[in-house]
Amino acid sequence: MKFSKSISILLLGILVVACSTNPFTGKQTLALVPNSQILPMAFQQYKEFLSENKVVKNSADAQMVRSVGQKIASAAERYLTANGYAGYLTDYRWEYNLVESKDVNAWCMPGGKIVVYTGILPITKNEAGLAAVMGHEVAHALANHGQQRMSAGQLQQLGAVAGNVALANNAEYQQIFNTAYGMGSNVGIMLPFSRSHETEADHIGLILMAIAGYEPSVAAELWQRMQAQENGNTPPEFLSTHPSSSTRIQNIQAWAPGARAEAKKFGVTSFKR
Ligand SMILES: [Zn+2]
Repeated sequence: MKFSKSISILLLGILVVACSTNPFTGKQTLALVPNSQILPMAFQQYKEFLSENKVVKNSADAQMVRSVGQKIASAAERYLTANGYAGYLTDYRWEYNLVESKDVNAWCMPGGKIVVYTGILPITKNEAGLAAVMGHEVAHALANHGQQRMSAGQLQQLGAVAGNVALANNAEYQQIFNTAYGMGSNVGIMLPFSRSHETEADHIGLILMAIAGYEPSVAAELWQRMQAQENGNTPPEFLSTHPSSSTRIQNIQAWAPGARAEAKKFGVTSFKR
């Protein structure tokens, strides 16, 4: 009896550490590693990534990435504040960088650290297309999908679930982190997001881009262009973790009116396309 009681208390403790509410879906999600551990790590990895890659500064494209990123970030802040989650982004340190690379890719690390590769710009084509990609990637970060992509089993082995291990200095954890966030030197080992995470990021991303003042149905056009690329000989890296599909495009088309209606609550009445 005594034994089972202490087990229950232990389990309860783990659940308190491990659960957080996704402010966009209201769903309880597993947050195996607290933000206080994840964010410093993400910021350090981001800094290293920038130092090892060619960051494009002062070009019109770099300016566009910054300006669209700022609008998406501000949309996220307004949406969260309006929905009772003021302060959710307190620890975020938004940054938006364009990196010279022919890779078709873009990502957002926890804490709002964004990279867009020049290789994706021909497919995003315009500001609204870029807003669709950045909205989607920011949505993954806001919903903590990366954390959930780390294997619970691996983290348990490290004792990370109990939240009392200094993960930032743990080489094994860094490996898990890099794989989950695609930061490893071998990009091929990056884990894909689950289909439900993709759907969630599409939906949240659409709302963000609409509040940012961009026509949400442009996202459907973007994924159609992605799909066209996918049929080539070497499918872009972005598509290995974000497969385009007709279901995805249909969902986006169906959600677009709802995203526009949501944006209107924030006084947005015209949408740039
Ligand atoms: Zn995604």
